[in-house]
Amino acid sequence: MERRPSGVRATTNTSRKCPECQHTSAENRKTQAKFVCVECGFSAHADFVAAVNVKEAGLALLACSQPSPEARASCQEPTEATRVQSCA
Ligand SMILES: [Zn+2]
Repeated sequence: MERRPSGVRATTNTSRKCPECQHTSAENRKTQAKFVCVECGFSAHADFVAAVNVKEAGLALLACSQPSPEARASCQEPTEATRVQSCA
């Protein structure tokens, strides 16, 4: 459980990850307050984006702790490698 390098880093990326396409880049933060995804063009207040990402991370953790196969399957999304690792 100690080897979670990407999981640790994800915490600091909450305000840099696009909630639409999951693209994570410092370039997404145009200013301190404004988030504009360089990949898909999604834009929002940076605090809103951070809140969405924190919430999703929390939901992913909840899903991982669920005993039901359906909930566990949802946290094994192949598009989100960091989540799969944090679930292991
Ligand atoms: Zn995007």
